[in-house]
Amino acid sequence: MARKIDIKAITDICLFVGAGLSTYFLLNRLLSEEFGGYSSTSKENKEKQKKTLEKLIAKNPELNDLYLDHYENSILSSVILSEDIDTKFEDIGGLDELVSELNESVVYPLMVPELFESNSLLRAPNGVLLYGPPGCGKTMLAKALAKESGANFISLRMSSIMDKWYGESNKIVNAIFSLANKIQPCMIFIDEIDSFLRERSSTDHEVTANLKAEFMTLWDGLISNGRVMLIGATNRMNDIDSAFLRRLPKRFYITLPSKEQRLKILEVLLKDTKLDSQECDIDFIAQKTEGLSGSDLKELCREAALNAAKEYIRNQRKSSHNIDKNDTDSKIRIRPLKNSDFLPTSQLESKSVLSSMTLD
Ligand code: ADP
Repeated sequence: MARKIDIKAITDICLFVGAGLSTYFLLNRLLSEEFGGYSSTSKENKEKQKKTLEKLIAKNPELNDLYLDHYENSILSSVILSEDIDTKFEDIGGLDELVSELNESVVYPLMVPELFESNSLLRAPNGVLLYGPPGCGKTMLAKALAKESGANFISLRMSSIMDKWYGESNKIVNAIFSLANKIQPCMIFIDEIDSFLRERSSTDHEVTANLKAEFMTLWDGLISNGRVMLIGATNRMNDIDSAFLRRLPKRFYITLPSKEQRLKILEVLLKDTKLDSQECDIDFIAQKTEGLSGSDLKELCREAALNAAKEYIRNQRKSSHNIDKNDTDSKIRIRPLKNSDFLPTSQLESKSVLSSMTLD
């Protein structure tokens, strides 16, 4: 009998403690979400928002009275001021034609809107779509466009916005456009634009359907204002809703680079790196890297530079020299890069065949 009572008491205590703990964690979570959270990410975000706002005001004193609501403030952490963008047109290899076309259709209307507004035929495009495989420079291009036109840059990945703001996405979409208007000239860059501008279907959730409608209305509002421009990027152009595509008459396909383009990309990526005058031939490397994107080429160059750096450290250790961290000349002593740092031995052999053929 006594044993039965004990078990019941223990069960009751466990239930009581369990319920208490869950209530505590639930309340804790709700409170921290409601008040912006005490997590470091939230603190960092707030700090970033504050700094961005200060810089914006320093640049445009008329923004001193700028009022931003909760949602606009959240978007503020995705804003980069043009002077803080570190990508310029000259950092982009092999896309010269595209760069000059985008310069004319995007940069000019942002820089001299009066000229483009005076004639409806000249009106700036509503937006621009950059499409093609990943790692080929779409984000880079968008950033360089903002930099060159002196526009503030709002960079958003739509899928993360949808996840974070599900149920409130309409408000956040509104905030994107209203903030862009307040801090114009401004470029809104939406990566993975297909993730929410998919072809509409009967299976669309009501929230998604409403969001698309809202987005279109706000986007149409941009027509009157050449100083806010939307740039979308996608790897899956065919998935995008045709109504949206009609609003994006300017579409640019950025393919995997050709041999000539790879050569130009390598030249840009290696402009500050010492190459062995005898044993490094970037034309040959460009020829041997078919199918690689700009981002793959960057990784290849990084690995090559790392090879030489590792070799330097190994040699220093072997000769029992201590590496002097204050020795700023140590960079100079890292040997120049060779073909073998970039390519596997199997591919290097064809180089010797090639050179022997030329020698013959
Ligand atoms: P995407 O947006 O198309 O996925 P990114 O613009 O993010 O590609 O490119 C990733 C990285 O690859 C860039 O930061 C850059 O270092 C490199 N890269 C890609 N394309 C080029 C290019 N044409 N010229 C120089 N670097 C490039």
